[in-house]
Amino acid sequence: MSSSRITNRVGVFGGTFDPIHVGHLAVASAVQKEFELDQVLFVVTSDQWLRENPPVASASDRLRMVELAVSGMPGFSASDIDIRREGSTYTVDTLKDLHAELGESSERFLIVGADSAMSMDRWKNGDRIPALANIVAVGRPGQNLQIDALGDSHPASGAEYLEGPMIDISATRVRGLLSNKRSVSDLVPSSVAEFIEKQGLYN
Ligand code: ATP
Repeated sequence: MSSSRITNRVGVFGGTFDPIHVGHLAVASAVQKEFELDQVLFVVTSDQWLRENPPVASASDRLRMVELAVSGMPGFSASDIDIRREGSTYTVDTLKDLHAELGESSERFLIVGADSAMSMDRWKNGDRIPALANIVAVGRPGQNLQIDALGDSHPASGAEYLEGPMIDISATRVRGLLSNKRSVSDLVPSSVAEFIEKQGLYN
């Protein structure tokens, strides 16, 4: 009798999500469909920030907004694995911890926007990432990503590339509109807009 191996195909979408917006959701849906993922984890970065431009909202508020945004979306869930770990967030640690948590039968697909894909050669232990996950780089308006032009040593040089959905939204723009008391109702899910308003975030 032949044994069949069941593999859980898991998308890993890391970000500050400060706040999560409909561009993130569209990217995750497109990758989920194209790569037949069983689930997509939205992994929220910690608050312990060593770099420039720390997140504006706390990790717990950013996590809550992701939970609200993905609730009711089949296969999508929020992960606090990076918030629970001590110290700054590095994707190599996220992937190692997820490997331990999900087990051998899971196959990981790291989802990155074009801007993030290009910066991967500057990530901590970025060269180890291809051994820990398939990398899926997604096009982003204004970011010209040519995987073929990346040198062989670049972590994203062997990435899969998905051009769409090309939605021109950034969290920076969402925060800018909110600080000018402008509406973001087209840019974030309504549950997230309500949370932002109730908590008085990004004023
Ligand atoms: P900010 O404007 O604060 O830098 P952001 O909108 O880029 O935020 P992040 O949480 O930093 O959002 O991004 C998480 C991941 O989502 C990154 O890999 C980023 O490249 C990707 N991403 C965000 N928005 C888009 C978009 N509109 N299209 C494609 N990828 C995106």
